[in-house]
Amino acid sequence: MDYQAVLARIAEDVAPQVGSGRPAEYIPALAAVDPHRFGMAIADVDGKVYGIGDWQRPFSAQSITKVFALALALAQGGDSLWDRVGREPSGNPFNSLVQLEHENGIPRNPFINAGALVVTDRLQTLTGDASSELLEFLRQESANPELAFDAEVAESESAHGDRNAALAHFMASYGNITNPVPTLLDHYFWQCAIEMSCADLALAARFLARHGLRADDSRLLTRSEAKQVNAVMLTCGTYDAAGEFAYRVGLPGKSGVGGGIVAVVPGRCTLGVWSPGLDERGNSVAGVAALERFTTLTGLSVF
Ligand code: GLU
Repeated sequence: MDYQAVLARIAEDVAPQVGSGRPAEYIPALAAVDPHRFGMAIADVDGKVYGIGDWQRPFSAQSITKVFALALALAQGGDSLWDRVGREPSGNPFNSLVQLEHENGIPRNPFINAGALVVTDRLQTLTGDASSELLEFLRQESANPELAFDAEVAESESAHGDRNAALAHFMASYGNITNPVPTLLDHYFWQCAIEMSCADLALAARFLARHGLRADDSRLLTRSEAKQVNAVMLTCGTYDAAGEFAYRVGLPGKSGVGGGIVAVVPGRCTLGVWSPGLDERGNSVAGVAALERFTTLTGLSVF
């Protein structure tokens, strides 16, 4: 497969959509990003990376980090995590509180904010320093020791974090948060504020295309666990538009409000794409279009 030629074609095809949608506006640090950026990278299972546009430019990974936090929590703490968080699409916005009361403080899935808070809480219990553990893991998998937190974004998340604080306190009232809420929120906000490029993302997610094997060939997840994480990405990874994403793209994917999306072709490759303009559900307009073009042009999807 000539991935470089595929990327060139995709960039041409989606150019009219780059700049559509609106960058996230809930914190100033994200609202200030140039909406005309577009980058895409593909990493094959052997670690060779192909890229186009702004593929090496770091941006705020935001909710994409939820996938990596989930993988680490499962790897280090095992399946009992699923007693505390479900695996069903929520059909509600990522920061919704409504289902939590009906479901006794057990969030629908690990990729809505409530679920991600439970995962980070678990990782914090397991490691004592969830956000640093995550950053270190991402540095190793992407072979990029420069990966870092964006302090301005982290502080901004914290300053505008009332909703996440409400979610965490509400779940704590059901006993589903075990660390002090302020500690948990701190790690969650720093986690969201990790900056990564499309290339970093594609490389870091490679264990999901390699059935659980890390970059150094050690095992992070069992084959079954890697399948499970991919399945949850497919059904829950793109906010309340996961059905539409599966329909259009046909790959497990996880998006973030920074405009990035990571997607996995199990056994073949991983993709990172970034363009800050979001649709009304919070997914990158040009990013989803680019992934749709990828599966259409290459025939590589899970279906
Ligand atoms: N930091 C964001 C929040 O928790 C994450 C948003 C996202 O990418 O979905 O509100």
